[in-house]
Amino acid sequence: MNKKTIEDILVKGKKVLVRCDFNVPLDADRNITDENRIVGAIPTIKYLVDNGAKVILCSHMGKPKGEPKPEFSLAPVAKRLSEKLGKEVIFAADDNVVGENAKKAVAEMNDGDVVLLENTRYRAEETKNIETFSKELASLADIFVNDAFGTAHRAHCSTVGVADYLPAVCGYLIQKEIEFLGNAVNNPVRPLVAILGGSKVSSKISVIENLLDKVDKLIIGGGMAYTFMAAKGYEVGDSLLEKDYIDYAKEMMAKAGDKLLLPIDTVVAKEFNNDAESKIVGEGAIEAGWQGLDIGPKTIELFSDAVKSAKTVVWNGPMGVFEMENFAKGTNAIAQVLAEIDATTVIGGGDSVAAVNQAGLGDKMSHISTGGGASLEFLEGKQLPGIVALEDK
Ligand code: ADP
Ligand code: MG
Repeated sequence: MNKKTIEDILVKGKKVLVRCDFNVPLDADRNITDENRIVGAIPTIKYLVDNGAKVILCSHMGKPKGEPKPEFSLAPVAKRLSEKLGKEVIFAADDNVVGENAKKAVAEMNDGDVVLLENTRYRAEETKNIETFSKELASLADIFVNDAFGTAHRAHCSTVGVADYLPAVCGYLIQKEIEFLGNAVNNPVRPLVAILGGSKVSSKISVIENLLDKVDKLIIGGGMAYTFMAAKGYEVGDSLLEKDYIDYAKEMMAKAGDKLLLPIDTVVAKEFNNDAESKIVGEGAIEAGWQGLDIGPKTIELFSDAVKSAKTVVWNGPMGVFEMENFAKGTNAIAQVLAEIDATTVIGGGDSVAAVNQAGLGDKMSHISTGGGASLEFLEGKQLPGIVALEDK
């Protein structure tokens, strides 16, 4: 998968429509509470500005469900982005997104100017990928740049439809996702170790299946490990268990052979609560009335050893209930190992990224994926429509 990027095309003097991910959280007064996504979009915008493009930005925010709703307006983003760029961002406040304000603002642009359109999900066509809106978006520009990895798994007008009418390339954010997530899974420096965790086997089945063939080692921890323990014939007490997936877990274990590593001890608690009574139990020793909330110290050692020899590590899903301090040790220990080894380390999945950041180790990883659902689909081996729509090199 080798897609053209903004550096592969001439942008000077061109009107460039950039699909960003400005879906930032707001508080009740509509102040931006986390500006990471705005900061993340800046390298692509700066490159285009510095190279004399007329930069037209668009994004969705929240779920206005196809109609204009002021609480989902991108106006606060225009303001914050202006501050971050040190440059005016003209906000085209059209309820129909591509309206009189947008058209006028674009017509008056000089090279290096920046315009932000209103929330693309003000339009009912957006999430249905209906061509009327795609054509309107395309009519504003000469070139389309997709830099919104978080919505690359959705075929919407502003992520896919518009690419039918304009030359389409990726920005730096998507380029980096393709480079790290794509290479880690499809063209890794070996040994490749995948670490999977999180709550449910059922939500990660396609990930397990896709990765099993590709990895040298597959580590399974977190809540999903108990269904595998049950498949081994162990009691799991009140731990998370998906009974309907026990047979599936058996199948996977048979297929994986010694590629698969499962926990050999567990931190169990009386209740799902940070202050609950807890203890460490060995393999197969979870009693009735107790639930597994983290991997134990022997498992940390086992998993760490397996990871240390890796040259590429892909991690999706925490090893325990990392939101509770007393059950975050396993997740933190694995994050620490990843931070120290000499390997390409790729973190995908909303909670996994949160866990690594909570441990303060985000900047020690080679790549932290910016898309929860999109990175999961990537790990499932799916083609993401927002990337497929871009031109090949
Ligand atoms: P990601 O968002 O990285 O893909 P998931 O959404 O699959 O990860 O899983 C994350 C959730 O799994 C976290 O909220 C965490 O508390 C939960 N989890 C991990 N281990 C356990 C466990 N042993 N019991 C219950 N929940 C768990
Ligand atoms: Mg999650």
